[in-house]
Amino acid sequence: MGKVTGFLEIDRQERKYKPAADRIRHYKEFVIPLSEEATRSQAARCMNCGIPYCHNGCPVNNQIPDWNDLVYTGDWRRALANLHSTNNFPEFTGRVCPAPCEAACTLNLIDQPVTIKTIECAIVDRGWEAGWILPEPPKTITGKRVAVVGSGPAGLACAQQLARAGHATHVYEKHAKAGGLLRYGIPDFKMEKHLIDRRVAQMEAEGVVFHYNVNVGVDLGADALVEGFDAVALAGGAERPRDLPIPGRELRGVYFAMEFLPQQNRRMSGEPLSTNEPILASGKHVVVIGGGDTGSDCIGTSVRQGALSVTQLEIMPRPPEKENKLLTWPDWPLKLRSSSSHDEGSLRDFAVMTRAFVGQGGAVKRLRCVRVDGKMQEVPGSEFALPADLVLLAMGFVSPVYDGLIAHIGVDLDKRGNVAADTNSYKSSRDKVFACGDMRRGQSLVVWAIREGRQCARAMDERLMGETKLPR
Ligand SMILES: Cc1cc2nc3c(=O)[nH]c(=O)nc-3n(C[C@H](O)[C@H](O)[C@H](O)COP(=O)(O)OP(=O)(O)OC[C@H]3O[C@@H](n4cnc5c(N)ncnc54)[C@H](O)[C@@H]3O)c2cc1C
Ligand code: SF4
Repeated sequence: MGKVTGFLEIDRQERKYKPAADRIRHYKEFVIPLSEEATRSQAARCMNCGIPYCHNGCPVNNQIPDWNDLVYTGDWRRALANLHSTNNFPEFTGRVCPAPCEAACTLNLIDQPVTIKTIECAIVDRGWEAGWILPEPPKTITGKRVAVVGSGPAGLACAQQLARAGHATHVYEKHAKAGGLLRYGIPDFKMEKHLIDRRVAQMEAEGVVFHYNVNVGVDLGADALVEGFDAVALAGGAERPRDLPIPGRELRGVYFAMEFLPQQNRRMSGEPLSTNEPILASGKHVVVIGGGDTGSDCIGTSVRQGALSVTQLEIMPRPPEKENKLLTWPDWPLKLRSSSSHDEGSLRDFAVMTRAFVGQGGAVKRLRCVRVDGKMQEVPGSEFALPADLVLLAMGFVSPVYDGLIAHIGVDLDKRGNVAADTNSYKSSRDKVFACGDMRRGQSLVVWAIREGRQCARAMDERLMGETKLPR
């Protein structure tokens, strides 16, 4: 374990952010890493619990107490090997994971969980800096050909595992670059994109072939793909956004978050916008409808673009500031969560339902809203209006997009409209076709996508070879 009395002697210390006034002037990451000494003393706080709940809290089951101990003793290289044994891309999760492991940490019972995510990020960032992270090409080649559709975290993890198992692995991606929502959804200020490029280069050196600008089901027939490979993984994400079909929805200025956010990411990387219509928050009153990560990212991006005001509306009541630990621990509690974007100059309002978008000359000008109670019933006399020149709908995603791939490949869907496959076999209803990530489980998290990509690769390897050495 870390230091036996570490948790008694050392306070929790988190990474800090650069001041909001500075960071909103650019789109770069703004988290300040802890020093090596501080990271090691934070790792010393781990109690190496008899039952480490953090293992289960972490969807990839990172062996957290083990690498905490290795960091405490300064054995960073073994810590990195341990971390990579369960997580292909800790630099992604070390930046954007909401850290359910920390909610599950025993020290969270006193609101002082080990800074697990910070330590994870420090291990892998150090690994890259030191040149320890190298391609791991397979020692033997199986002669099998596998395809992965989609290069989000699920597709990337699946492809990396399959290539390391010796299969000729081809990734098909409809966009010009790899990464899925890591690349085109999550803003650069949360995760810079050179981190993805670095992993793609590693994967290419391990034998993975990336085919960009290929929309399977549109540019390449789904049947041709299935016939051309021994196994296919569908990792196309859940890209169909939840809409708000109320009066005025057709007005100019009302957009889905995922029409707005990818444009800024493309501007940053010099990629052309996918449409001729630039959507910008500069000089506008912006209203973001919906909480969650996507809503926060819309706030941070709007503030950086120079919005006049940014208001976030949430239909649910304001959650409690603090959870009742004895009821919720070690599970992920419902409580008020504020992202770094919330500190950058936005207003939040809860229990608000938007009734209509009101326009002028075809463009949105304001919102008509009403307050609702805990049962979503309108509170009489609580109507109010909000100025809005740009409205961003960030109310989540309902399912994969059906046109193209899903329409043509002929796999069964589950009750929620995702590709039906269980989490043991990851097999769809069509022979040779597997599914993982948001396309199978619905809208989720990067860390869940990595888990599913890894497990799906294992199931495919076992199916192809009759046995597998890939970890679950
Ligand atoms: C704005 C935003 C912010 C988020 N922030 C966070 C966060 O901070 N932390 C977190 O953990 N999670 C976050 N999430 C959720 C997280 O990004 C997703 O759960 C995760 O990326 C899902 O991974 P995936 O690989 O299953 O799918 P995706 O990342 O959606 O990748 C799917 C890929 O498949 C490609 N594709 C789809 N269909 C085809 C086709 N027919 N042919 C070829 N390619 C195809 C797509 O272009 C895409 O590249 C966020 C989501 C959004 C939208
Ligand atoms: S991947 Fe997420 S849940 Fe797992 S250890 Fe890292 S921060 Fe925690």
